[in-house]
Formats: sequence, structure tokens, C-alpha cells
Amino acid sequence: MSDQPSAGVDVLRERLLAVQDRVGEAARLAERDPAGIRTIVVTKFHPASLVRDLAALGVADVGENRHQEAQAKAAELTDLDLRWHFIGQLQSKKARQVRAYADAIHSIDRDALVDALRSDERSTDCFVQVNLTDDPGRGGVAPAELASLVDRVLETPGLALRGLMAVAPLDEPARAAFARVRELSERVVLPAAPDAASLSMGMSHDLEDAVAEGATHLRIGTAITGNRPVAG
Ligand SMILES: *Cc1c(COP(=O)(O)O)cnc(C)c1O
Repeated sequence: MSDQPSAGVDVLRERLLAVQDRVGEAARLAERDPAGIRTIVVTKFHPASLVRDLAALGVADVGENRHQEAQAKAAELTDLDLRWHFIGQLQSKKARQVRAYADAIHSIDRDALVDALRSDERSTDCFVQVNLTDDPGRGGVAPAELASLVDRVLETPGLALRGLMAVAPLDEPARAAFARVRELSERVVLPAAPDAASLSMGMSHDLEDAVAEGATHLRIGTAITGNRPVAG
């Protein structure tokens, strides 16, 4: 796994098509239009060259979870027309730097981060991340605090709320966890922000469950990129 070379373009193409098939089949079962489901390819730990190969295959949305790595790749690939999605835990002091290259931030999880992203000059799409576990270290706001954080985002210039983001916990069936996100969206978010209906949820192993519960943004890593190189 650690010495695995980056996948060649043919392998990437096959995996992209396989994921597309899975999304299409899940959408069919859920009686949803697959056009309403965007696949973000998570390229963390992989080199910029792999992102370039993906772009050549038609990928338009990529996801990264570490600021320094994301910043370096985005800087190297400014010639490509990519949308960069920041999906990792974010320190408030790095917030402004992230917004410089990120088209969307999926990991808004506390007031201090919202305040750090305030801007009168530009608007960045964002998702509030919900923590579906009892472990506060996992990232995301506790469901009980969601309403007040959503309000904070809505009253902060420079942030355009798109919806909710979540990662399914390991100790619970993913479908049930994603159903809770959908329920929070309907009960807490939509009454305050009717346009913020997006749901960023679903990864390589649970995308079918996410599509069944209304996901609009899938964050798919290994199913497309192969195993991640070990962090160096
Ligand atoms: C790495 C990561 C993913 C992609 O996970 P895979 O299992 O490789 O598809 C999705 N979301 C977040 C927040 C991640 O950190």
C-alpha cells in the first residue's frame, strides 16, 4: 500500500466510470435525478499530477482536507478550471488563507471559524458540518448547537450557506446516520434558509446510503484514486 504508484490514467478512468455507475444505480433506486448529485474527488495525500490526470478525464470538483497541501496543489494547478472543496478540520487562523483558493468550505463547525471567514468583499459557499458521534474531537457541531451556528452563518457577510455536511460514524449503519442529517436539514436548516438544501455526505464505502438519504455532494476518495499514499 505504501509503495503503490499513483494510478495511471486508464485505471482512473475505469474507477471514475465505476463510481458513476454506482451513483447512477443508487439514484435510480432512490428515484432521483443523478444530475442533482455532484461527485467531489478527494485527492488528499496524492500529488498534483493525479489531480491533473483527473481534470483531463473531466473531473471538475476536487476535495482536500489539509490546508498546506491543498494550497500548494491549487497554486500548482491554477491553469485548470477546478473547483476546490475544503473538507477537513480548519483552524480559525488559517481560515482566510483557505478561502483564497477554496470555492467551498464543507467543515464549518464553530462560531470562531464563522467569524474568521467574515468578508465584505467576496462570498464563499459553505456547509455546516454536523458531528454524528458523541466524540467532540471528531469535527462538526453537536446537533443541539446546530440552529445557533446556522444563524451565525446566515448573519455573517461573506458566507453563502449551501447546507449540511457529515461523515457517518463507524459504529452505526451509515443509512441511519445520513437519515439524521436529512432530518436536521429539514427541521433546523430549511426553515431558516430555504435555499441551503444541499447535503454533503457519502464516501467511497457508503455512497449508496448517502444517495438514498438525499446527498447532493458525494466526497469520494479511494474508490477513484486508489489507496492513499502514507502521509509523509
Ligand atoms: C478522506 C475523506 C473523504 C473520502 O474518503 P474515502 O473513503 O477515501 O472515499 C471524504 N470526506 C472526508 C471528510 C474525508 O476526510
